[in-house]
Amino acid sequence: MTTTAVTDQTERALLARIPTGLYIDGRWTEAADGGRFEVVAPSTETVLATVADARPDDGDRALAAAHAAQPSWGRTPPRVRAEILRQAFELVTIRAEDFALTMTLEMGKPLAEAHAEVSYGAEFLRWFGEEATRISGRYSTAPDGANRLVVTRRPVGPCLLITPWNFPLAMATRKIAPAIAAGCTMVLKPAALTPLSALLLAEVLEDAGLPPGVLNVIPTTDPGSVSGPLLSDARLRKLSFTGSTPVGQRLIAASADQVLRVSMELGGNAPFIVFEDADLDAAVEGALAAKLRNGGEACVAANRFLVHRSLADEFGQALAARMSSVTVGRGTDPATRLGPLINAAAVARVGRLVDGAVAAGARLALGGRALDGPGHFFPPTVLTDVPAGADILDEEIFGPVASIVPFDTEDEAVRLANATPFGLVCYVYTRDLDRGLRMGERLETGMLGLNTGVVSNPAAPFGGVKQSGLGREGGREGIEEYLETCYIGVADPFAAFG
Ligand code: NAD
Repeated sequence: MTTTAVTDQTERALLARIPTGLYIDGRWTEAADGGRFEVVAPSTETVLATVADARPDDGDRALAAAHAAQPSWGRTPPRVRAEILRQAFELVTIRAEDFALTMTLEMGKPLAEAHAEVSYGAEFLRWFGEEATRISGRYSTAPDGANRLVVTRRPVGPCLLITPWNFPLAMATRKIAPAIAAGCTMVLKPAALTPLSALLLAEVLEDAGLPPGVLNVIPTTDPGSVSGPLLSDARLRKLSFTGSTPVGQRLIAASADQVLRVSMELGGNAPFIVFEDADLDAAVEGALAAKLRNGGEACVAANRFLVHRSLADEFGQALAARMSSVTVGRGTDPATRLGPLINAAAVARVGRLVDGAVAAGARLALGGRALDGPGHFFPPTVLTDVPAGADILDEEIFGPVASIVPFDTEDEAVRLANATPFGLVCYVYTRDLDRGLRMGERLETGMLGLNTGVVSNPAAPFGGVKQSGLGREGGREGIEEYLETCYIGVADPFAAFG
């Protein structure tokens, strides 16, 4: 891992090596109209690179390539697909410094966190490489003894994969790896704010031996115009989207025409519940991880700290003390623990939520004001006694702001936790095992962190309920999203046997 500040020269040399075209059918090309857009560093507001800006014609070319490659890719032996993924895992790991620095530059997160994302993101390549060879069906006798039932699995077909800016590498590998493992071809549309990591990944997958057309990458500043025609094109068979709930809702509606398979990883509003019997030090540590990882710009970021009234003051003071010692700065500085937000609009949003909470009666225990530029910095912020009805309890904060709400009983904690249309993840701190398991049944959530502030793991099924999404990524479940089931009814082989 890098321990000294990265020099401008290193940054420039890396940026010069990253491909900036569209990747279609195994070739790097310009957009149909030659257009390009700028990728801007959130730390410095300087332009890092310009990238080809896909138009609808480019989307059509990318889907045509994916569609043409599907038959042979779907028949490629699982072991071959697995080996490509294993090789890609090795290459991403070897190039960890490049990937980490690319993410730090385009997204802003500290280098140590970018390295953690490289490990996490690469692990999806290894995990699904291992899963590729374990796809299997079944053979059974029908209950009436007549037919035989053969159930097989096959790839869904060409997929459109749309990813957000907050985890530029891992959100891509979490979709690409199971699609490759299952034998699907794909068009990836990364977020225009952070396309460089995905472009570097395409290069690595090509080096790993991925055949032309299996993966096509089309960054664009006009995602609606590019994805719209693809979703109503009969050659596409699946959409996998990670992003905000409103965009996901629109894309589900647009997927109805072709009755596409859809996977949706959408927004969250995670409660972090601290019961009166919790280990307070562990809860504060967990809170720090669940709040500040990725600068709070994570769907799994703790959004509401529900703390038993007997501990609320102590917890708030301890969390504010820990958060006040966090160093804010450029992600390339080794001392930095908290980088910038993604852009000026994000800073304005977080500021509005904090101001609204204070106006509603919350107390500001730490931070609260955006820092002077250049760069889109917002300091660690703690709000206590946040009253019900404040927008900050209902919206995804996507910033380093902790809102603390006291509660008195388990029933009240559950009611507050579930009072949201989202259901991605909850965190619970308690020493009572029965209560911990009970929370797993009472909370409306796809994931639960029990005495831990970090749940993401490539071997576990990641995903939400309610408006947080449909389907799961990672774990044994992740590959299911890319497989169809085909049932073959076979006549009784004993019928004419005598
Ligand atoms: P976003 O919804 O604005 O954008 C996500 C992606 O969709 C981007 O690639 C964007 O270009 C694209 N997009 C936007 N409008 C589109 C349209 N009309 N048609 C097709 N594509 C379109 O979200 P974001 O700001 O990039 O990411 C933050 C959001 O993502 C948060 O809500 C966060 O909770 C969510 N998220 C969820 C998970 C999860 O696994 N549940 C993981 C990471 C982020």
